[in-house]
Amino acid sequence: MHDEPIDPFNGDPADPAAGLDDPGDDAPLDPLTEVERQDVLEDLADLEIYQALLSPIGVRGLVIECEDCREPHYFDWDLLRGNLRHLLSSGRPRVHEPAYDPDPDHYVTWDYARGYADGVHDTLTESAGDDTDSDD
Ligand SMILES: [Zn+2]
Repeated sequence: MHDEPIDPFNGDPADPAAGLDDPGDDAPLDPLTEVERQDVLEDLADLEIYQALLSPIGVRGLVIECEDCREPHYFDWDLLRGNLRHLLSSGRPRVHEPAYDPDPDHYVTWDYARGYADGVHDTLTESAGDDTDSDD
């Protein structure tokens, strides 16, 4: 099953390609700055909140407008978390692995999630100590 041309330097210690075979996908190419790391950590923390608030109402993840593709990419919560952790450990984003065949109705933007979380927070703050039984 090896269709690549035979390397004439194969086994030769002077092989100019030696060491290029395995570029090491996990090697940190361009580590995040401290500020970038902090941003990612905040995103991860926000993500926990959004998932806790939104998944009970049927939201499966977030949709992100991709600057490269100019298309929306849909990410499940787990995928988003995995991507952010990957970014933390490798310094590189992994944005082009969106969910398979997503249903757009089940995904919201970061802005929507943030607004929703803020709204819930306000509601909780306002109704603190308020003991009404709401049936909706
Ligand atoms: Zn993309």
